[in-house]
Amino acid sequence: MEKNLFRKIPKVDSLLETESCKELISRHGYQIVIESIREELEQIRAQILSGGEEQDVFIQMENLPVAIEHRVMEKEQFHIRKVLNGTGTILHTNLGRAPLSTTHLQKILEIASGYSNLEFDLEKGERGERYSHFESLLCKITGAQAAMAVNNNAAAVMLILNTMASGGEAIVSRGELVEVGGKFRIPDVMKESGAILREIGTTNKTHLFDYEDAVTEDTKVFMKVHTSNYRIFGFTKSVSIKELTTLKEKYQIPIIEDLGSGVLLDLQKYGLTHEPTVQESIQNGADVVCFSGDKLLGGPQAGIIVGKKKYIDQMKKNQLTRALRIDKFTACALESVLKEYLCEETAIKNIPVLEMITRPLKKVQEAAKMLCDTLLAEEFPAVISTQTCMSQIGGGSLPMEQLESMAVSIHPCLISTELFAKRLRNLPIPVIGRVVEENFLLDMRTFDNTMIEDFVNSLKKNHIFKVDR
Ligand SMILES: *Cc1c(COP(=O)(O)O)cnc(C)c1O
Repeated sequence: MEKNLFRKIPKVDSLLETESCKELISRHGYQIVIESIREELEQIRAQILSGGEEQDVFIQMENLPVAIEHRVMEKEQFHIRKVLNGTGTILHTNLGRAPLSTTHLQKILEIASGYSNLEFDLEKGERGERYSHFESLLCKITGAQAAMAVNNNAAAVMLILNTMASGGEAIVSRGELVEVGGKFRIPDVMKESGAILREIGTTNKTHLFDYEDAVTEDTKVFMKVHTSNYRIFGFTKSVSIKELTTLKEKYQIPIIEDLGSGVLLDLQKYGLTHEPTVQESIQNGADVVCFSGDKLLGGPQAGIIVGKKKYIDQMKKNQLTRALRIDKFTACALESVLKEYLCEETAIKNIPVLEMITRPLKKVQEAAKMLCDTLLAEEFPAVISTQTCMSQIGGGSLPMEQLESMAVSIHPCLISTELFAKRLRNLPIPVIGRVVEENFLLDMRTFDNTMIEDFVNSLKKNHIFKVDR
Protein backbone atom coordinates (compact mmCIF):
# COMPACT_ATOMS: atom_id res chain seq x y z
CA MET A 1 0.00 0.00 0.00
CA GLU A 2 2.89 2.31 0.86
CA LYS A 3 4.50 1.33 -2.40
CA ASN A 4 1.33 2.17 -4.27
CA LEU A 5 1.29 5.61 -2.80
CA PHE A 6 4.91 6.22 -3.75
CA ARG A 7 4.06 5.29 -7.31
CA LYS A 8 1.34 7.94 -7.38
CA ILE A 9 3.77 10.76 -6.63
CA PRO A 10 4.08 12.89 -9.77
CA LYS A 11 7.42 12.81 -11.57
CA VAL A 12 9.58 15.93 -11.60
CA ASP A 13 9.59 16.01 -15.40
CA SER A 14 5.83 15.87 -15.70
CA LEU A 15 5.46 18.65 -13.15
CA LEU A 16 7.94 20.77 -15.10
CA GLU A 17 5.67 20.38 -18.13
CA THR A 18 2.56 21.78 -16.40
CA GLU A 19 1.38 25.24 -17.35
CA SER A 20 1.75 26.62 -13.82
CA CYS A 21 5.38 25.47 -13.55
CA LYS A 22 6.24 26.74 -17.01
CA GLU A 23 4.81 30.08 -16.00
CA LEU A 24 6.84 30.06 -12.77
CA ILE A 25 10.03 29.22 -14.68
CA SER A 26 9.50 32.08 -17.09
CA ARG A 27 9.12 34.50 -14.20
CA HIS A 28 11.62 33.18 -11.66
CA GLY A 29 14.04 30.96 -13.55
CA TYR A 30 14.51 27.20 -13.76
CA GLN A 31 16.75 26.66 -10.74
CA ILE A 32 14.44 28.01 -8.08
CA VAL A 33 11.43 26.13 -9.51
CA ILE A 34 13.17 22.76 -9.70
CA GLU A 35 14.42 23.21 -6.14
CA SER A 36 10.90 23.97 -4.98
CA ILE A 37 9.46 20.93 -6.79
CA ARG A 38 12.07 18.61 -5.27
CA GLU A 39 11.45 19.97 -1.77
CA GLU A 40 7.69 19.58 -2.08
CA LEU A 41 8.01 16.00 -3.37
CA GLU A 42 10.42 15.19 -0.56
CA GLN A 43 7.82 16.39 1.92
CA ILE A 44 5.20 14.08 0.43
CA ARG A 45 7.60 11.11 0.59
CA ALA A 46 8.32 11.91 4.22
CA GLN A 47 4.61 12.03 4.94
CA ILE A 48 4.09 8.57 3.42
CA LEU A 49 7.08 7.14 5.27
CA SER A 50 5.83 8.43 8.58
CA GLY A 51 2.57 6.57 7.95
CA GLY A 52 0.40 9.50 7.02
CA GLU A 53 -3.26 8.92 6.14
CA GLU A 54 -3.75 8.04 2.49
CA GLN A 55 -6.39 10.73 2.16
CA ASP A 56 -4.03 13.42 3.49
CA VAL A 57 -1.33 12.35 1.08
CA PHE A 58 -3.73 12.68 -1.84
CA ILE A 59 -4.79 16.13 -0.70
CA GLN A 60 -1.17 17.16 -0.55
CA MET A 61 -0.56 15.86 -4.08
CA GLU A 62 -3.57 17.69 -5.40
CA ASN A 63 -2.31 20.79 -3.71
CA LEU A 64 1.12 20.53 -5.34
CA PRO A 65 0.83 23.39 -7.89
CA VAL A 66 -0.18 25.87 -5.17
CA ALA A 67 2.43 24.55 -2.74
CA ILE A 68 5.18 24.82 -5.34
CA GLU A 69 4.19 28.37 -6.15
CA HIS A 70 4.20 29.29 -2.44
CA ARG A 71 7.62 27.80 -2.03
CA VAL A 72 8.98 29.73 -5.01
CA MET A 73 7.52 32.95 -3.61
CA GLU A 74 9.04 32.23 -0.22
CA LYS A 75 12.45 31.72 -1.77
CA GLU A 76 12.12 34.90 -3.80
CA GLN A 77 11.16 37.00 -0.81
CA PHE A 78 13.73 39.40 0.57
CA HIS A 79 14.86 38.67 4.08
CA ILE A 80 15.01 42.34 4.98
CA ARG A 81 11.56 43.81 4.57
CA LYS A 82 9.48 46.88 5.08
CA VAL A 83 7.39 46.59 8.25
CA LEU A 84 4.60 48.75 9.64
CA ASN A 85 5.44 50.09 13.08
CA GLY A 86 2.43 50.17 15.36
CA THR A 87 4.46 50.07 18.58
CA GLY A 88 4.40 53.83 19.10
CA THR A 89 8.15 53.83 19.67
CA ILE A 90 9.48 56.40 17.25
CA LEU A 91 13.18 55.47 17.38
CA HIS A 92 12.77 51.68 17.49
CA THR A 93 16.28 50.22 17.45
CA ASN A 94 15.03 46.80 16.28
CA LEU A 95 12.96 48.34 13.49
CA GLY A 96 15.77 50.37 11.95
CA ARG A 97 15.64 53.48 14.19
CA ALA A 98 15.15 56.68 12.16
CA PRO A 99 13.19 56.36 8.90
CA LEU A 100 14.32 58.65 6.08
CA SER A 101 11.97 60.55 3.81
CA THR A 102 11.64 59.63 0.15
CA THR A 103 12.95 63.06 -0.84
CA HIS A 104 16.22 62.35 0.93
CA LEU A 105 16.36 58.87 -0.53
CA GLN A 106 15.81 60.23 -4.01
CA LYS A 107 19.09 62.08 -3.66
CA ILE A 108 20.85 58.88 -2.59
CA LEU A 109 19.45 57.11 -5.63
CA GLU A 110 20.86 59.81 -7.90
CA ILE A 111 24.28 59.84 -6.24
CA ALA A 112 24.79 56.13 -5.64
CA SER A 113 23.53 54.88 -9.00
CA GLY A 114 26.38 56.63 -10.77
CA TYR A 115 29.67 58.36 -10.04
CA SER A 116 29.89 61.33 -7.71
CA ASN A 117 32.37 63.81 -6.29
CA LEU A 118 32.46 61.86 -3.01
CA GLU A 119 36.19 62.46 -2.60
CA PHE A 120 36.86 64.84 -5.44
CA ASP A 121 37.29 68.59 -5.17
CA LEU A 122 35.53 69.93 -8.26
CA GLU A 123 37.05 73.37 -7.86
CA LYS A 124 40.66 72.27 -7.70
CA GLY A 125 40.29 69.14 -9.78
CA GLU A 126 42.04 67.04 -7.19
CA ARG A 127 41.36 64.68 -4.31
CA GLY A 128 38.76 66.00 -1.88
CA GLU A 129 37.26 64.98 1.46
CA ARG A 130 34.11 62.94 1.97
CA TYR A 131 33.20 65.15 4.93
CA SER A 132 33.25 68.27 2.77
CA HIS A 133 29.64 67.69 1.70
CA PHE A 134 28.24 68.31 5.16
CA GLU A 135 31.06 69.80 7.25
CA SER A 136 30.18 73.45 6.70
CA LEU A 137 26.49 72.68 7.26
CA LEU A 138 27.29 71.10 10.61
CA CYS A 139 29.50 74.05 11.55
CA LYS A 140 26.79 76.50 10.61
CA ILE A 141 24.11 74.65 12.56
CA THR A 142 26.13 73.87 15.70
CA GLY A 143 28.57 76.77 15.84
CA ALA A 144 31.55 74.40 15.85
CA GLN A 145 34.81 75.04 13.96
CA ALA A 146 35.03 71.68 12.23
CA ALA A 147 33.12 68.43 11.78
CA MET A 148 33.34 64.89 10.47
CA ALA A 149 31.36 61.66 10.73
CA VAL A 150 32.07 57.96 11.21
CA ASN A 151 30.01 54.77 11.09
CA ASN A 152 28.03 55.34 14.31
CA ASN A 153 28.28 57.11 17.64
CA ALA A 154 30.00 54.17 19.32
CA ALA A 155 32.74 54.49 16.70
CA ALA A 156 32.85 58.25 17.27
CA VAL A 157 33.50 57.80 21.01
CA MET A 158 36.20 55.27 20.21
CA LEU A 159 37.88 57.52 17.66
CA ILE A 160 37.79 60.59 19.90
CA LEU A 161 39.34 58.76 22.84
CA ASN A 162 41.89 56.98 20.69
CA THR A 163 42.95 60.27 19.16
CA MET A 164 42.89 62.45 22.24
CA ALA A 165 43.49 60.18 25.24
CA SER A 166 45.30 57.01 24.12
CA GLY A 167 48.11 56.17 26.52
CA GLY A 168 46.74 58.61 29.06
CA GLU A 169 43.76 59.04 31.32
CA ALA A 170 40.22 60.17 30.66
CA ILE A 171 38.36 61.41 33.73
CA VAL A 172 34.68 60.40 33.86
CA SER A 173 32.04 60.63 36.56
CA ARG A 174 30.71 57.30 37.92
CA GLY A 175 27.25 58.72 37.36
CA GLU A 176 27.92 58.74 33.62
CA LEU A 177 29.34 55.26 33.03
CA VAL A 178 26.30 54.16 31.08
CA GLU A 179 25.41 51.16 29.02
CA VAL A 180 23.30 51.97 26.00
CA GLY A 181 21.58 49.39 23.77
CA GLY A 182 23.46 46.72 21.87
CA LYS A 183 26.07 46.05 24.58
CA PHE A 184 27.70 49.47 24.17
CA ARG A 185 29.28 50.25 27.53
CA ILE A 186 31.23 53.44 27.97
CA PRO A 187 33.91 51.80 30.19
CA ASP A 188 34.47 48.98 27.69
CA VAL A 189 34.72 51.29 24.71
CA MET A 190 37.23 53.40 26.59
CA LYS A 191 39.38 50.36 27.28
CA GLU A 192 39.36 49.41 23.60
CA SER A 193 40.37 52.93 22.65
CA GLY A 194 43.61 52.70 24.58
CA ALA A 195 42.61 55.34 27.11
CA ILE A 196 42.66 54.62 30.83
CA LEU A 197 39.39 55.31 32.52
CA ARG A 198 39.70 57.39 35.67
CA GLU A 199 36.39 57.10 37.51
CA ILE A 200 35.47 59.82 39.92
CA GLY A 201 32.59 60.70 42.28
CA THR A 202 29.69 58.40 43.05
CA THR A 203 26.62 57.25 41.17
CA ASN A 204 24.46 60.12 42.38
CA LYS A 205 26.96 62.87 43.12
CA THR A 206 30.07 64.17 41.45
CA HIS A 207 31.55 67.56 42.35
CA LEU A 208 33.97 69.86 40.60
CA PHE A 209 36.62 69.05 43.22
CA ASP A 210 36.36 65.36 42.27
CA TYR A 211 37.52 66.28 38.78
CA GLU A 212 40.30 68.52 40.08
CA ASP A 213 41.55 65.95 42.61
CA ALA A 214 41.88 63.36 39.83
CA VAL A 215 44.03 65.51 37.55
CA THR A 216 47.57 64.18 37.10
CA GLU A 217 50.29 64.54 34.48
CA ASP A 218 48.64 61.67 32.62
CA THR A 219 45.24 63.31 32.33
CA LYS A 220 44.37 63.83 28.67
CA VAL A 221 40.68 64.69 28.68
CA PHE A 222 37.66 65.38 30.83
CA MET A 223 34.86 63.30 29.44
CA LYS A 224 31.15 63.96 29.88
CA VAL A 225 28.53 61.43 28.83
CA HIS A 226 24.91 62.42 28.45
CA THR A 227 22.95 59.79 30.36
CA SER A 228 20.38 59.74 27.62
CA ASN A 229 18.58 56.54 28.52
CA TYR A 230 17.98 56.97 32.25
CA ARG A 231 17.59 59.62 34.90
CA ILE A 232 18.65 59.77 38.52
CA PHE A 233 16.33 61.69 40.82
CA GLY A 234 16.69 63.00 44.35
CA PHE A 235 20.01 63.72 46.04
CA THR A 236 22.08 64.30 42.95
CA LYS A 237 24.84 66.54 41.66
CA SER A 238 26.72 66.50 38.42
CA VAL A 239 29.17 69.01 37.02
CA SER A 240 28.14 70.94 33.93
CA ILE A 241 30.43 71.64 31.01
CA LYS A 242 30.34 75.29 31.95
CA GLU A 243 31.68 74.54 35.43
CA LEU A 244 34.33 72.24 33.99
CA THR A 245 35.73 75.00 31.77
CA THR A 246 37.43 76.56 34.84
CA LEU A 247 39.53 73.40 35.18
CA LYS A 248 40.04 73.20 31.45
CA GLU A 249 41.68 76.61 31.48
CA LYS A 250 43.65 76.01 34.66
CA TYR A 251 45.15 72.69 33.50
CA GLN A 252 44.86 72.98 29.70
CA ILE A 253 42.85 69.78 29.47
CA PRO A 254 40.15 69.57 26.76
CA ILE A 255 36.55 68.59 27.46
CA ILE A 256 34.84 66.00 25.29
CA GLU A 257 31.17 65.14 25.42
CA ASP A 258 29.21 62.14 24.19
CA LEU A 259 25.74 63.61 23.76
CA GLY A 260 24.11 60.40 22.56
CA SER A 261 20.93 61.53 20.86
CA GLY A 262 22.19 64.74 19.27
CA VAL A 263 19.33 67.20 19.21
CA LEU A 264 19.91 70.17 16.95
CA LEU A 265 16.82 72.15 17.89
CA ASP A 266 15.10 73.04 21.14
CA LEU A 267 12.35 70.46 21.59
CA GLN A 268 10.95 72.34 24.59
CA LYS A 269 9.02 74.55 22.18
CA TYR A 270 7.03 71.49 21.18
CA GLY A 271 6.09 70.52 24.70
CA LEU A 272 8.93 68.11 25.38
CA THR A 273 11.41 68.15 28.25
CA HIS A 274 14.53 70.12 27.49
CA GLU A 275 17.25 67.91 26.02
CA PRO A 276 20.69 69.53 25.82
CA THR A 277 21.39 70.53 22.23
CA VAL A 278 24.70 70.21 20.42
CA GLN A 279 24.77 74.01 20.06
CA GLU A 280 24.57 74.47 23.84
CA SER A 281 27.33 71.97 24.43
CA ILE A 282 29.68 73.82 22.08
CA GLN A 283 28.65 77.19 23.46
CA ASN A 284 29.26 76.05 27.03
CA GLY A 285 32.82 75.14 26.18
CA ALA A 286 33.02 71.51 25.05
CA ASP A 287 36.01 71.06 22.72
CA VAL A 288 34.66 67.99 20.97
CA VAL A 289 31.08 66.68 20.93
CA CYS A 290 29.78 63.48 19.36
CA PHE A 291 26.25 62.18 18.75
CA SER A 292 24.24 59.72 16.65
CA GLY A 293 23.00 60.52 13.17
CA ASP A 294 19.92 58.30 13.49
CA LYS A 295 18.50 59.20 16.87
CA LEU A 296 16.78 62.55 17.43
CA LEU A 297 18.62 64.08 14.48
CA GLY A 298 16.53 61.83 12.26
CA GLY A 299 19.19 61.04 9.67
CA PRO A 300 21.21 58.00 8.57
CA GLN A 301 23.22 55.81 10.95
CA ALA A 302 26.36 57.80 11.71
CA GLY A 303 28.51 59.10 14.52
CA ILE A 304 28.88 62.82 14.06
CA ILE A 305 31.85 64.61 15.61
CA VAL A 306 31.99 68.40 15.88
CA GLY A 307 34.40 70.70 17.69
CA LYS A 308 37.76 72.47 17.59
CA LYS A 309 39.49 72.19 14.23
CA LYS A 310 42.77 71.19 15.88
CA TYR A 311 41.23 67.98 17.27
CA ILE A 312 39.01 67.16 14.30
CA ASP A 313 42.07 67.41 12.02
CA GLN A 314 43.91 64.93 14.22
CA MET A 315 40.97 62.56 14.01
CA LYS A 316 40.76 62.82 10.23
CA LYS A 317 44.40 61.69 10.10
CA ASN A 318 44.00 58.83 12.59
CA GLN A 319 44.39 55.39 10.94
CA LEU A 320 41.27 54.19 12.77
CA THR A 321 39.21 56.63 10.71
CA ARG A 322 39.92 54.55 7.62
CA ALA A 323 38.21 51.60 9.29
CA LEU A 324 35.32 53.60 10.69
CA ARG A 325 34.56 55.87 7.76
CA ILE A 326 31.12 56.49 6.34
CA ASP A 327 30.13 55.48 2.82
CA LYS A 328 28.60 57.56 0.03
CA PHE A 329 25.04 56.71 1.05
CA THR A 330 25.61 58.16 4.48
CA ALA A 331 27.50 61.22 3.25
CA CYS A 332 24.68 61.98 0.84
CA ALA A 333 21.89 61.36 3.37
CA LEU A 334 23.65 63.50 5.96
CA GLU A 335 23.86 66.46 3.61
CA SER A 336 20.18 66.04 2.62
CA VAL A 337 18.91 65.81 6.19
CA LEU A 338 21.18 68.50 7.63
CA LYS A 339 20.09 70.96 4.92
CA GLU A 340 16.60 70.79 6.42
CA TYR A 341 17.93 72.16 9.70
CA LEU A 342 18.74 75.51 8.11
CA CYS A 343 15.06 76.27 8.64
CA GLU A 344 13.41 74.85 11.75
CA GLU A 345 9.95 74.78 10.23
CA THR A 346 11.21 72.75 7.28
CA ALA A 347 13.07 70.37 9.57
CA ILE A 348 9.97 69.62 11.63
CA LYS A 349 7.96 69.02 8.48
CA ASN A 350 10.43 67.05 6.35
CA ILE A 351 12.36 64.92 8.82
CA PRO A 352 10.12 61.95 9.66
CA VAL A 353 11.39 61.54 13.26
CA LEU A 354 10.74 65.19 14.09
CA GLU A 355 7.43 65.16 12.26
CA MET A 356 6.24 62.16 14.30
CA ILE A 357 7.41 63.68 17.60
CA THR A 358 5.67 66.99 16.94
CA ARG A 359 2.61 65.64 15.14
CA PRO A 360 -0.51 67.12 16.77
CA LEU A 361 -2.67 64.65 18.69
CA LYS A 362 -5.63 65.59 16.53
CA LYS A 363 -3.89 64.31 13.43
CA VAL A 364 -3.08 61.01 15.14
CA GLN A 365 -6.70 60.68 16.27
CA GLU A 366 -7.91 61.20 12.71
CA ALA A 367 -5.67 58.41 11.45
CA ALA A 368 -6.88 56.12 14.25
CA LYS A 369 -10.51 56.84 13.37
CA MET A 370 -9.81 56.21 9.71
CA LEU A 371 -8.23 52.80 10.36
CA CYS A 372 -10.89 51.89 12.92
CA ASP A 373 -13.76 52.76 10.56
CA THR A 374 -12.16 50.90 7.65
CA LEU A 375 -11.74 47.79 9.80
CA LEU A 376 -15.29 47.99 11.18
CA ALA A 377 -16.70 48.25 7.66
CA GLU A 378 -15.20 44.84 6.86
CA GLU A 379 -17.16 43.24 9.74
CA PHE A 380 -14.22 41.14 10.83
CA PRO A 381 -14.94 38.81 13.75
CA ALA A 382 -13.21 41.10 16.25
CA VAL A 383 -13.91 43.81 18.78
CA ILE A 384 -12.36 46.96 17.33
CA SER A 385 -12.17 50.45 18.81
CA THR A 386 -9.91 53.44 19.22
CA GLN A 387 -8.11 53.88 22.50
CA THR A 388 -5.86 56.59 23.97
CA CYS A 389 -2.28 55.53 24.57
CA MET A 390 1.22 56.88 25.03
CA SER A 391 4.01 56.86 22.44
CA GLN A 392 7.69 56.71 23.34
CA ILE A 393 10.63 58.42 21.71
CA GLY A 394 12.87 55.35 22.18
CA GLY A 395 16.43 54.78 21.01
CA GLY A 396 17.62 55.69 24.48
CA SER A 397 16.47 59.28 24.01
CA LEU A 398 14.30 61.28 26.38
CA PRO A 399 13.50 58.25 28.58
CA MET A 400 10.85 60.01 30.64
CA GLU A 401 9.04 61.44 27.68
CA GLN A 402 5.58 60.10 26.83
CA LEU A 403 3.59 61.53 23.96
CA GLU A 404 -0.20 61.44 24.11
CA SER A 405 -1.39 59.30 21.25
CA MET A 406 -4.24 57.22 19.87
CA ALA A 407 -4.26 53.53 19.04
CA VAL A 408 -6.60 51.16 17.29
CA SER A 409 -7.38 48.24 19.58
CA ILE A 410 -8.20 44.88 18.01
CA HIS A 411 -9.46 41.90 19.96
CA PRO A 412 -9.96 38.92 17.65
CA CYS A 413 -12.98 36.76 18.62
CA LEU A 414 -12.07 33.44 16.99
CA ILE A 415 -8.33 33.22 17.57
CA SER A 416 -6.03 34.24 20.40
CA THR A 417 -4.45 37.69 20.42
CA GLU A 418 -1.01 36.02 20.39
CA LEU A 419 -1.83 34.07 17.23
CA PHE A 420 -3.23 37.25 15.67
CA ALA A 421 -0.01 39.15 16.48
CA LYS A 422 2.02 36.28 15.02
CA ARG A 423 -0.01 36.26 11.81
CA LEU A 424 0.47 39.99 11.43
CA ARG A 425 4.22 39.49 11.72
CA ASN A 426 3.99 37.00 8.87
CA LEU A 427 2.12 39.22 6.43
CA PRO A 428 3.96 40.17 3.20
CA ILE A 429 4.39 43.58 4.84
CA PRO A 430 4.66 42.58 8.50
CA VAL A 431 2.87 44.66 11.12
CA ILE A 432 4.32 45.04 14.60
CA GLY A 433 2.14 46.22 17.48
CA ARG A 434 1.75 45.84 21.22
CA VAL A 435 -0.40 43.32 23.08
CA VAL A 436 -1.98 44.87 26.15
CA GLU A 437 -4.48 42.84 28.20
CA GLU A 438 -5.55 40.55 25.34
CA ASN A 439 -5.92 43.48 22.95
CA PHE A 440 -3.67 44.11 20.00
CA LEU A 441 -2.82 47.82 19.85
CA LEU A 442 -1.62 49.78 16.84
CA ASP A 443 -0.32 53.21 17.89
CA MET A 444 -1.09 55.48 14.97
CA ARG A 445 1.71 57.96 15.68
CA THR A 446 4.25 55.59 14.16
CA PHE A 447 2.00 53.63 11.78
CA ASP A 448 2.45 54.67 8.14
CA ASN A 449 -0.92 56.30 7.38
CA THR A 450 -0.58 55.92 3.65
CA MET A 451 -0.69 52.13 4.20
CA ILE A 452 -4.07 51.91 5.97
CA GLU A 453 -5.96 50.62 2.95
CA ASP A 454 -3.24 48.15 1.96
CA PHE A 455 -3.11 46.87 5.52
CA VAL A 456 -6.85 46.22 5.71
CA ASN A 457 -6.82 44.53 2.29
CA SER A 458 -3.97 42.35 3.43
CA LEU A 459 -5.95 41.25 6.52
CA LYS A 460 -8.81 40.27 4.22
CA LYS A 461 -6.75 38.52 1.61
CA ASN A 462 -4.81 36.48 4.15
CA HIS A 463 -7.91 35.50 6.17
CA ILE A 464 -6.18 36.71 9.31
CA PHE A 465 -9.19 36.36 11.63
CA LYS A 466 -10.19 32.80 10.61
CA VAL A 467 -9.40 29.77 12.73
CA ASP A 468 -8.13 27.72 9.77
CA ARG A 469 -6.74 29.40 6.76
C1 LIG B 1 23.04 55.77 21.63
C2 LIG B 1 24.27 56.20 22.33
C3 LIG B 1 25.53 55.79 21.88
C4 LIG B 1 25.68 54.85 20.71
O1 LIG B 1 25.30 55.46 19.52
P1 LIG B 1 25.18 54.58 18.18
O2 LIG B 1 24.97 55.59 17.12
O3 LIG B 1 24.03 53.66 18.39
O4 LIG B 1 26.45 53.84 18.03
C5 LIG B 1 26.63 56.22 22.56
N1 LIG B 1 26.52 57.04 23.64
C6 LIG B 1 25.32 57.47 24.10
C7 LIG B 1 25.26 58.35 25.30
C8 LIG B 1 24.15 57.07 23.47
O5 LIG B 1 22.95 57.46 23.92
